[in-house]
Amino acid sequence: MGEERRAELARRLAAVRARIAAACVAAGRDPADVELMAVTKTVPASDVALLLDLGLTALGENRAQEAGSKVADVAALRPDAQPRWHFVGSLQRNKARAVVAWVHRIESVDSARLADALDSAAARALDESRRTGPLPVLLQYSVDGDPARGGVPADALLALADHVAGCRALRLDGLMAVAPQAADPDAAFADVEAAAARLRAAHPAATTLSAGMSGDLEAAVRHSSGVVRVGTALLGERQLASL
Ligand SMILES: *Cc1c(COP(=O)(O)O)cnc(C)c1O
Repeated sequence: MGEERRAELARRLAAVRARIAAACVAAGRDPADVELMAVTKTVPASDVALLLDLGLTALGENRAQEAGSKVADVAALRPDAQPRWHFVGSLQRNKARAVVAWVHRIESVDSARLADALDSAAARALDESRRTGPLPVLLQYSVDGDPARGGVPADALLALADHVAGCRALRLDGLMAVAPQAADPDAAFADVEAAAARLRAAHPAATTLSAGMSGDLEAAVRHSSGVVRVGTALLGERQLASL
C-alpha cells in the first residue's frame, strides 16, 4: 500500500514537473525560476512524508488547526527532513501565534489587522529566540475584489503593502493570488502580474509572485509566476470538493 502510493506520487510529481517545464519552455523562462509547492491540505501526514522522500520540501496548508497537528506528525515521521511550510488560507487573528510557531511563510495576508496580529506573534517569537529573523509574508491579492474569497482588492493593495513594510517582525516578500473560478485564467493572471509589478515598484524587495494551481499553472507561468501551488494534480482529488 505504502509502496503503491509512493509510486503513484512519484508518477504524479513527474507529470507536474513536466507541465511546469513545458510551460516554462513555451514562455521562454528557466524552469529553475518556478518553484513547486505541494498543497497538502486534507491529505495525511504519511503522504507528506512520501513527498519529502521525493524531494519536495515546499508545502502549503490552509487551515491552522489541521496544519498544526500535521506539522508535528510529519516531524515525527521524517525527523531529518526540512520541510518549509507555507500558510495559504484565510487566517483568524487568534490563530496567528500558533501558526507562527511552524510557518516558513504566510501567503495570505489581506488586512492590516491580520498583519498586526502576525507582527506581534513574530516579534514575540524573535524576542524569545524561537525565530531568528522576520517572518516572510505575501499579500493575497483579490482579482475580482470579492471579499468572500479573501484577498486585498486592487485599490487597497499599496496601502496594505506600506503597512506591512512598517511591521518590524514581518518581511514583505511579494504577492499571492488565486484566479477566480469563472474567470479566464490568462486575463486573471495578467491582472495579477500587473498588481505584482505595482507592488514591486513601491517595494523593490517584494519580488515573489505565487500564482497558479493544478488547473491553471500554465497561464500563471506565462504571467511570470515564481511559485505554483499544486494540490490535486499531485495528490489526487480531495474528499471534500469545497476544500
Ligand atoms: C487548495 C489550494 C491550492 C491547490 O489547489 P489545486 O487545485 O488542488 O491544485 C492552491 N492555492 C490555494 C490557496 C489553495 O487553497
